[in-house]
Amino acid sequence: MKLHSFGARGSLPSPSTRDFNTSIYGGNTTCYYLEAGPFRIIIDMGSGARPLGNYLMKEGEIGKSFIFLLTHYHSDHIQGIGFCVPFYIKENTFYIHGFTPEGRENVDPLKNVVLQALEEQQASPYFPVPHGLLPANKKYRAHNRMFSEVFYYVVNGEDYVYKPLADIEDPENYALKEIIKITTVPLHHPNGCLGYRVDYMGSSIAFCTDNEPFAFTNNKINTLCKDVDLIVLDGQYTAEQLAGLTQTFGHGNPELCVDQAVACGAKSLLITHMDPGHDDVKVAEMEKKCIEYFTKKKAKILNNVEFVKEGDSWQIS
Ligand SMILES: [Zn+2]
Ligand SMILES: [Zn+2]
Repeated sequence: MKLHSFGARGSLPSPSTRDFNTSIYGGNTTCYYLEAGPFRIIIDMGSGARPLGNYLMKEGEIGKSFIFLLTHYHSDHIQGIGFCVPFYIKENTFYIHGFTPEGRENVDPLKNVVLQALEEQQASPYFPVPHGLLPANKKYRAHNRMFSEVFYYVVNGEDYVYKPLADIEDPENYALKEIIKITTVPLHHPNGCLGYRVDYMGSSIAFCTDNEPFAFTNNKINTLCKDVDLIVLDGQYTAEQLAGLTQTFGHGNPELCVDQAVACGAKSLLITHMDPGHDDVKVAEMEKKCIEYFTKKKAKILNNVEFVKEGDSWQIS
């Protein structure tokens, strides 16, 4: 699998200005792209969805299917949807996964809650193109935000077929490269949030932002992300910030991310969701402190810790 970062900023885009440089770590909000054999997976569409869309167009990805895993509906994770060119190509298909927001559990099942949440951000007068009118073919699925669910996609020609766990008798009945397993990971964040673990051909990656650990680590992450090759975690604040005003905002700090990655036995850790008030100098300082903390910890399995820089890629084999 190959993971690409198109946006690692949290909360709000933070472009460089004359006296506030963010050009190294990047200013676009959360957007990642995962290539796994024939599977194209998008994780969140913050403002990084615009450069992602341009990248996909340059790669000639037209008439293709995409699995779009949405962590939650906060604006920094969905604000780029209307600016992502592949959504305007009618030959493309997006399989969009989100969760049923709190208070909408009893909504008419015919009214798709994921579509409804996305329609709201693109409703008049806030955006000129209603979400439902984006020309690409779109299919939506809502998961439970409190409990983990497992589902699969299998290759079907140029397209994919969604298979809930109950429909898969034995994953080994499929050719290894034609099936991908996805597990949702309930996170601790205001209004709810889902992390995702992706397993493909013996490799695994977990993506768990936005999350504020209840205490030391998150038990659901420990269990569901056990022994992953790579985990992406939310280290927005410094330890001092997290102990103060920003507590309960739903984010972590880099040292807690290291503890979390060690607790679940991850081999590699990427820290994401940088604070819009932290310029490159501040983020580099946080990264240095975090690596010192990691080095002192002498972890046995975890062997790499780094902060995500927009535009970087990682090969996970
Ligand atoms: Zn966020
Ligand atoms: Zn959020």
